[in-house]
Amino acid sequence: MSTINIVEIIKEYVDLRKAGANWKGNCPFHNEKTPSFVVSPTKGIFKCFGCGKGGDHIKFISLIEGLSLEEAENFVNNSQDAIVYEEAIEPILLKIIERFDSHSVTIAGLLNFDQLLLDFCIGNLKKLEASLKTNHEVNITSIHLLPTSTIRNLEMIKENNSFKPQFQKVYSQSLVLLVSYFTSILKEMFVSSVNFLTLFDSHFALKIQSKVKFEFRKLAENNFDLRGKLGDIIIDKESYSFQDMKSSKEAFNKYFNFEISRNKDQDIIIMGQALRHAIVHNSEVVDSKFLNQTRDCQLENHYELNDEIVLEKKDVINIQVSMKKFLLEMKNELITKLRNDH
Ligand SMILES: [Zn+2]
Repeated sequence: MSTINIVEIIKEYVDLRKAGANWKGNCPFHNEKTPSFVVSPTKGIFKCFGCGKGGDHIKFISLIEGLSLEEAENFVNNSQDAIVYEEAIEPILLKIIERFDSHSVTIAGLLNFDQLLLDFCIGNLKKLEASLKTNHEVNITSIHLLPTSTIRNLEMIKENNSFKPQFQKVYSQSLVLLVSYFTSILKEMFVSSVNFLTLFDSHFALKIQSKVKFEFRKLAENNFDLRGKLGDIIIDKESYSFQDMKSSKEAFNKYFNFEISRNKDQDIIIMGQALRHAIVHNSEVVDSKFLNQTRDCQLENHYELNDEIVLEKKDVINIQVSMKKFLLEMKNELITKLRNDH
């Protein structure tokens, strides 16, 4: 394979320094203090001028890992695959995150429904007014018979956002919907990552095995092959709901071993999740659970016990923007983590 970089492979085992066109280091096969171990990237070979060992990258792996040449070749090919799947998983995750974008468009449509409806009415009334004025079959002499003042009234309603009080419920329900979408996207990112990695990364599959114990019945049900299904099985077993930030981060931390440090976006999302809970379970009134959940969050909006929750359009949009940022951050962390593992 011409894409194999012998320097990259040997660097995993030997501290190499650049020496002209070649690389040099202390030989791993004999004890030495001055480097006589040379790697040539152009020729694709290594050679030790101390002990005489040399050959291509397969030979190197067979010597250092104690494998036959055939085993060493498989070993190299598998680790080359490992590099590819980190790149292969990115489009899968991006596609899931794209679905959050289309959900966001739905939410925006709900939030702006009054404006859309007013625009529609104003537009049509203006057309009617124009045709009444220019059509010679009808001869309107009084301005009061034209829709002019109705148009003006609707425009005032739009400018002053007069439907807002009636729309308060729509804002609350949009938030409930948004949090549900976010939960399902996070859950899907987890499931897809687990399933993908157990299929393509034997290293990861082994780690999962040591973390989850499966019942014989479950294994038998699946013909002793859990690949491609592990994500859902783990969620079921661990009762992960992804409905709050803490448990979502725990799930990713336990199975992928990375942690995203707390930031402002997460505070905003935690508030969104707490708001959803109070809207659905406590008649849109702030309860002690809400205050507990948001206690450590640095937030612009402050809520006291028994406050009625009154959301603005921009509150819902802010939460949505923070969610998107968080999802992208999760994706990047996951990929960085996988890359560093190899
Ligand atoms: Zn040597």
